[in-house]
This record gives sequence, C-alpha cells and structure tokens, in this order.
Amino acid sequence: MPIRATKRGAERTPLSRDADVLICGASFAGLAVARELAGSGARVLLIDRYEVGERQTSACAAPTGWLRNLGLMDAFRQEFGELVIKTPHTTVRYDLPWSFATFDYRQLCAALQAQGDAEFEIAKVDGRTGDTVHTDRGDLTAPLIVDALGWRRVLGRGENVQPPDALLSRGLEVHPAGTGSEFEVWIDRSYVPAGYGWSFPARDEVRVGVGSFDPRFHVKEPTVRLAADLERAPEGFQGNWIPHALRPATDDGVFMVGDSAGHCLPLTAEGIRTAFYFGLACGRELRAVVAGEQTREQALGRYHAFSAGHRFAFDSMLKVQRLIPRVPPRLLAPALRAMGAKAFVDWSFGHYLKIAHPDFALAGPHGTSFASGRGGAGAAVVGATA
Ligand SMILES: Cc1cc2nc3c(=O)[nH]c(=O)nc-3n(C[C@H](O)[C@H](O)[C@H](O)COP(=O)(O)OP(=O)(O)OC[C@H]3O[C@@H](n4cnc5c(N)ncnc54)[C@H](O)[C@@H]3O)c2cc1C
Repeated sequence: MPIRATKRGAERTPLSRDADVLICGASFAGLAVARELAGSGARVLLIDRYEVGERQTSACAAPTGWLRNLGLMDAFRQEFGELVIKTPHTTVRYDLPWSFATFDYRQLCAALQAQGDAEFEIAKVDGRTGDTVHTDRGDLTAPLIVDALGWRRVLGRGENVQPPDALLSRGLEVHPAGTGSEFEVWIDRSYVPAGYGWSFPARDEVRVGVGSFDPRFHVKEPTVRLAADLERAPEGFQGNWIPHALRPATDDGVFMVGDSAGHCLPLTAEGIRTAFYFGLACGRELRAVVAGEQTREQALGRYHAFSAGHRFAFDSMLKVQRLIPRVPPRLLAPALRAMGAKAFVDWSFGHYLKIAHPDFALAGPHGTSFASGRGGAGAAVVGATA
C-alpha cells in the first residue's frame, strides 16, 4: 500500500507568494533545474501536487553515467552492460559500450532535491495568467517560470494537449518483488503492434511493462500477459502518457523542460536522462539571469535554441519509431542480428548516448564535486564493474 504523503483538505493552507524562480513539477526535470540554481541567491520555489518522490511513473532505468555524474549513486539498484532484445524469431544480445542502471525513484528524487536549496510546497497547478501561476492553494508570481509538469504542458498557451490525438505514447508496468539479471526488451507484435515490452530488474523488484507508440492501443492486457509469461505477479501498476515529439521549449515566456517540451526520446521512450539534461541546461540559463549576466528574454532565446538544436536527432528517432512496425517480422530478426555486430553497437549506442551525454552534468555550477563526493555505496559497485 503506497504511503500517501500529499496534503489534503484542511492541511492545504492558502499559499500566496512571490519568488524569483517558480519551478512547477518536482520530478526529474524540475529537480534538475532546481539543482543548478543552488547557491545562486535566488528565491526558488518548487511545487508539485505530490510529495517529492511519492509517485513513480517510470521503470527508472537510465545510463549509469548520469547517476554517477549527478552524484546520485545512493539510489542505484542494478547495472546492465548488455541489452537483450527478444522477438518471436530470435534473441539478440548487444554488448553495450556503456551501461544502464535501474534506481529507486524516491531515493533519487530526495538526493536530487538535497542538491538544490529550493523551498518546496505541495500545490496542484491549474493554469497561468502572465507571470502568475494559479494553484489550488492560491496564486504564485515569479518573473522566471518553469513548466516541468510532464506531458500535459499545463502552463503552455491554449488548450492542453490531450490523448489520444496528441503525439503521445502510452506506457504501463507492474513492479512485483523478485530478482533478475537481464535487461530485456521485447519487440513482439503479439504484445504490442507498435512499441515494445520490457523487464528491468532493480535488485529486489522487477519492472515489467509495455509501451505503445499508438496511443489508441491499450496496454493493460499485454502488460499482464507479459508479466504472466515471465511468471511475475501483476502487482504495483504504474503508468503514464509519454510524449514522442519535440515541442517548443519556451512558450509565452515560460521555460518548458522534460516531458512538457517532448524531451523524451521518441524511439526508446527514454525521458529521464533528457529531463536531467535539459533541466540542467535550463537551470544554467536561469542562473545567469539571476546573476545579472543576461536578461530573461536572452535566456528564453538561448534555451529555446539549445533544445531546438536537438531536433534532427529527435525527428530521426521518430522516423525509425514509425518504420519499425512496418518491417516484416521475418526481416526484423536478421536485421537485429546484423546490427548486433560489436562495431555497429558501439557506434550506434555511442551516438545515442551523445544526444544527452552524462558529461553534461559535470559542467555548470556544481562542477565535478557532486560526482566525486557523493558516490555512496553504489559508486563502488559500478566502479568495480564498469
Ligand atoms: C511506464 C513507463 C516507464 C518508463 N520507463 C522509463 C525508463 O525506464 N527510463 C526512462 O528514461 N524513461 C522512462 N519513461 C519515461 C519517463 O518516465 C519520462 O520521460 C520522465 O518521467 C519525464 O520526466 P519529467 O520530470 O519531465 O516529468 P514527470 O516525471 O512526469 O514529472 C512531472 C511532475 O509534475 C507533477 N505534476 C503534474 N501535473 C501537475 C499539476 N497539475 N500540478 C502540480 N504538479 C503536477 C507530477 O506529480 C510529477 O512530479 C517511462 C514512462 C512510463 C510511462
């Protein structure tokens, strides 16, 4: 039974405040922005409808380098240097040039929050008028506003995007207790016509799910079926919509970060490291505004251009996402086997990592101090195996 930490009813006292920076959404993207503002002297207010780390919606797998370079290895659970892809006709094993790690969501969020010095309040964001954000606890005003609220893009202009018409995928998973050693992905139309299934162990639980690039395709039945096929209990459902198209990263003076800007990678639905990456980029621009080194408009322009500079990579992955379901299954198996050549895996996964490389975390106000000083027990484990 999850612990509900959200303040309800009478505990929700009115909230009315000015801040220098208002960050709406306290998951991967919002917490990364806040981290980069630590020690800047700015009054940073971070809000979310839930307590930080309360609501996990993802399988929490990311390149280990990102956890290490952000100093978040205390949340590390398990490391994988090999990606196992299963189709009805073959199983291929890609020996990756870098590793993925699964982590604990609550622990990671708490550690990331501790690296910043933002004030945190629980409030549900309803909308915005100019520099004022309307919440269920009152209005909050700030010259610098960040929308890190996820795929709904609540603070953007006009109507929020709504599934199934928006460019969204859908994902659902279960996370029963158990152990495993393989980082597995299924490209199998019996589970999902366009999309993939996964099984990611995380030391004492296994995250098993299905993602569909077609938002009209319901993933509950195939998720339960994949779990049954793996002899895992269908317990602990969690899911969400996942954007699969890049959107403008600024909108009417608001900075959009993470899923609200479509920063999730279209082909793989990997959105954690990109939320970190664009969150750090946004936080650095905001920090320069706070320091009087640039205006808000300059920061908006620079951040917008930085995000748009990644369009080619995002659009290319979207094209491959649309192509894969059209490849006849009998051709998919030999194609996946051919792509498993070590030189090709190193080249392709090297480029894939570069889209949002973990070394980006080493620049900026924190430098390498977090990476070297806060490794924790997990760092030793990974250090020994990397
Ligand atoms: C089933 C599933 C599995 C996934 N697995 C992975 C994975 O293993 N690896 C990976 O890289 N990506 C994965 N993803 C994608 C990844 O979860 C997202 O891309 C990522 O969470 C985006 O981070 P974010 O901070 O932008 O948004 P979110 O993580 O969605 O955070 C948004 C925050 O805003 C808050 N919020 C939303 N609306 C309001 C409101 N109105 N008022 C106040 N607060 C609000 C929410 O409570 C939340 O804290 C998965 C997605 C799904 C659905």
